Amino acid sequence: MTPRGILIIGGGPAGAVCAERAARAGLGVTLLDDHLAWEKPCGGGLTHKALRAYPFLFDGPQPKKMVPEIELRCGADPPAKMKLDSPLVIYSRQTLNGLLLERAERAGCRVRRARAVALDVSSERPSARLSDGAQLEADFVVLAAGPRNRLLPDATADPAPAPLAPADFEQTAGYYVPGESDVLKIKFLPDFRGYLWSFPRADHLSVGICGKLDESSTATLRRHLDAYMDEEGLSQQGARFYSHLLPSPREHTLRARPVLGANWALAGDAAAMVDSITGEGIFYAMRSGELLGESLASDHPETYPRRLREEFGSELERAAGLAPRFYRERFLGAAITTRTIDFARRSPTFRRLLAGVFSGSQDYRTLPLRLWAQLPISLAEIAWSALAGR
Ligand SMILES: Cc1cc2nc3c(=O)[nH]c(=O)nc-3n(C[C@H](O)[C@H](O)[C@H](O)COP(=O)(O)OP(=O)(O)OC[C@H]3O[C@@H](n4cnc5c(N)ncnc54)[C@H](O)[C@@H]3O)c2cc1C
Repeated sequence: MTPRGILIIGGGPAGAVCAERAARAGLGVTLLDDHLAWEKPCGGGLTHKALRAYPFLFDGPQPKKMVPEIELRCGADPPAKMKLDSPLVIYSRQTLNGLLLERAERAGCRVRRARAVALDVSSERPSARLSDGAQLEADFVVLAAGPRNRLLPDATADPAPAPLAPADFEQTAGYYVPGESDVLKIKFLPDFRGYLWSFPRADHLSVGICGKLDESSTATLRRHLDAYMDEEGLSQQGARFYSHLLPSPREHTLRARPVLGANWALAGDAAAMVDSITGEGIFYAMRSGELLGESLASDHPETYPRRLREEFGSELERAAGLAPRFYRERFLGAAITTRTIDFARRSPTFRRLLAGVFSGSQDYRTLPLRLWAQLPISLAEIAWSALAGR
């Protein structure tokens, strides 16, 4: 049976794109968000994948920053600089969310500023209670309200999604800093699962840090962040602080977590659709929302989990499996993060491969094969660079 009346809780990239697709197909869609278009704490970086799937993000008139070059560093070592085949595009989240919500509204979705405080999926028609006491009923509810567990269908739902555990999250903290740059910078720290970043936007920088929630205290993150700001010569004067949770799911969490029930589905961060290595989530939020909207519109919501898995669920599981190894294991006597930057500095072949990972054109499925295939050339380049250095 086609769910006719759809209630979407959350108007970020996942909820807004789902709303647009379902409304465009003629379904009755209401979307709730307690902020609507707001500066959600985020880098705002969009990779090649997102720009290829949603060209309006590249072509549209909205203010954004095109970034042709990234700089990677680990600890006190010199940086590796990489030109990107396809530039990254960086949005302020207020602009991006506003653009996506406007498209949903134009497609016929009813967009309301309201906060849901409880969700009940136990009867045939699911319902949400709002903060003003009102109750909204629908035929189907989409939970796209970000990664917190508060509104998840409870254990009585069948299937019941287990709440994300602290080990499935990263804590983030950062500043919006007045300033301009054309280079996106990422810095890894020795023995630290996470990284620091400086993302240039149209008229400011988003500078921040992420670290595993169960491994790094907020105080530690602030200490690293403040030291990084000093190093980059960035002042906290006029800067605005932000902090937020970012899903960083473990492999088995992604594999085991249901995203669809009889009258509900999860999309975006609510479904933990985030790359556990890079923290990229906007593309996966948009595309999961789109796949869900299409599945609802075509009368087959049951196809959503399969389509999600086929398109990128297994890729995210691969990232989740690789993440602990990337941050913890050692190679040739040094941390993999250190070696990665060292190799990128010395080998143009390796650098191109890594640039593909960061710009989103290189997937994790074919990455090990390409790494092995290119290893002899990379090692020759590294040896040559070491000799030339001497
Ligand atoms: C610091 C940081 C940096 C990041 N940088 C990047 C990056 O550079 N590139 C990238 O691709 N990804 C990045 N991400 C990840 C990205 O921000 C998320 O993956 C993406 O926003 C997920 O979209 P979403 O629609 O699922 O959720 P969200 O964007 O979180 O949207 C959820 C919406 O639900 C609303 N909401 C929540 N609760 C309720 C409620 N009870 N009632 C009504 N509305 C509610 C909120 O107001 C919000 O608008 C970053 C994340 C963080 C924390």
